Amino acid sequence: MTNMPVLMSFTSGQAALDMEQESDEEIVRRKLKVLQRIFKNVDIPTPCEAVVTRWSQDPFAKGTYSFVAQGANGLHYDKMSESVNNVLYFAGEATCREYPSSIEGAYLSGLRVASEMSMHMIEESRMSVLAVKAVKAKRRSLRNSGAAMLVDSI
Ligand SMILES: Cc1cc2nc3c(=O)[nH]c(=O)nc-3n(C[C@H](O)[C@H](O)[C@H](O)COP(=O)(O)OP(=O)(O)OC[C@H]3O[C@@H](n4cnc5c(N)ncnc54)[C@H](O)[C@@H]3O)c2cc1C
Repeated sequence: MTNMPVLMSFTSGQAALDMEQESDEEIVRRKLKVLQRIFKNVDIPTPCEAVVTRWSQDPFAKGTYSFVAQGANGLHYDKMSESVNNVLYFAGEATCREYPSSIEGAYLSGLRVASEMSMHMIEESRMSVLAVKAVKAKRRSLRNSGAAMLVDSI
């Protein structure tokens, strides 16, 4: 960190795809030209360092995050967030209807899945306790009635 101000610039759509083909130097030069147009009477200094990302070339991101395509709606986010039989769970910004396309959405979705898994495990262990109680009750009733013991001891 330089402790100096940092200026960020975003380019999207076709312009971003076109720009990714250019060199870092050319991109920075173009950005400085825009700044110079905005601040006509100021001498814009050359930045001491510049970092250029090329998200469309990242094989895992491919330059994008979720968006509501034509014909889609918020319900599709809910659908994406549903688990498969409480065995396979889905987190990620694309599963968060309230805050999609953001770090907040990704974070909240992680909390949601952690809570869903915990609730399911609690329910499973509650069911196991009930099953053990039922078997014990059956065994007691068989013993009291004098019937042969058919149930393995637990
Ligand atoms: C250019 C850009 C700018 C952004 N700016 C902002 C911003 O300013 N503020 C903000 O809040 N959000 C911003 N976002 C959005 C934010 O980055 C995402 O919403 C967030 O990172 C999504 O998190 P996630 O965990 O859902 O998915 P990701 O962060 O995409 O995590 C998915 C992970 O899965 C991995 N993966 C993918 N496929 C496989 C596979 N087959 N096997 C194993 N691993 C795999 C990927 O490598 C990745 O690490 C930006 C996104 C982009 C692309």
